[in-house]
Amino acid sequence: MVVRGLDLLYHRAMSVLELQKTIIYGPIASRRLGPSLGINLSSTTANVCSFDCVYCQYGPTTRHLASAAGAEDMFPSCDEVAEALAAALPGIDPPGYLTFSGNGEPTLHPEFPAIVEAVRDVRDRLCPEAKVAVLSNSSMVGEERTRAALARVDLPIMKLDVGSAAAFEAINVPAPGVKFEDIVAGLEAMKHFVAQSCFVADNPGNADDGAVADYVRIVGIVRPAAVQIYTTDRPVARAGVRMVPRERLAGIARRVCEEAGIPAEIY
Ligand code: SF4
Repeated sequence: MVVRGLDLLYHRAMSVLELQKTIIYGPIASRRLGPSLGINLSSTTANVCSFDCVYCQYGPTTRHLASAAGAEDMFPSCDEVAEALAAALPGIDPPGYLTFSGNGEPTLHPEFPAIVEAVRDVRDRLCPEAKVAVLSNSSMVGEERTRAALARVDLPIMKLDVGSAAAFEAINVPAPGVKFEDIVAGLEAMKHFVAQSCFVADNPGNADDGAVADYVRIVGIVRPAAVQIYTTDRPVARAGVRMVPRERLAGIARRVCEEAGIPAEIY
C-alpha cells in the first residue's frame, strides 16, 4: 500500500472558496500535479453543479442541475475557452497540467467534448509538454459522449465518495435525475481513471464501518487505476460535517488496497 501526502486544486482551503472570476485561473502550485493552470467551464457568478455535497468548500450549490438543458447561457462558449487559454499561455511558464475544474462540474458543459478537443489543440500548439486533467464529480459519466471525451483527457480524476445510493443522496445530494447506479455503470465502462474520495464524519458521514464496506465493494467493481482519499477542513457547505482523522483515512486506504486490490493514497 502506498500512503503519502497529496493535495488537490481545491477542497483544502481554510475558508469557503470564492468562485473563480475568469475562465482561466492560476497557475496553482499543486504538490500532486505541479504547476497547474485551471480551466473553469462554469459560470463566473454561480456555482453550477449537479451535486450539492455537504462538504463543498464553495458553499451551497447555487444552480443545482442534472444537465445543462435550459441553462446553456450559464456557460462560456467553446471559442471563448480556447481563446482565453491561448491568450493566457504565452504569459506564463509552461504548466505541467491544464486542469478542468473551477466553479461546479466541468462535464455539465453542453460542449464539453468539443472543448476537450479545442484545449488539446491549444496545448499541442503552445505547450505540448503539458497534460490535460479534469476534476469531475462523475455525474455525467453514464453518457457515452462524456466517457468518450474523458478518454481524450490525459488524467481524469473522478469523484466516488460512497458505495450506496442512500449514502450518495446524503453526502453528494445529487440533482433530481442523477442516479448512483448510472455513475457506477459509467465508471465501470471507463478504461482509465483515478478516483477521488472525500470522507466526512457524523452528520451526515461516510466513514463508518458499514459505509466503508459498501464503498470498498464499489471500488472493486469500478476498478480505478488508483484512489485518492482525503477529508475536508471546515468551514464547509453544511453545519455538522466534520473532518475524518488521518488514522481513519489510513484504515480506509488499507481496506481499498487489501480488499479491492487498488492502490490508495491519502492526503
Ligand atoms: S461536486 Fe460537490 S464538492 Fe464539487 S463543486 Fe459540486 S457540490 Fe462542490
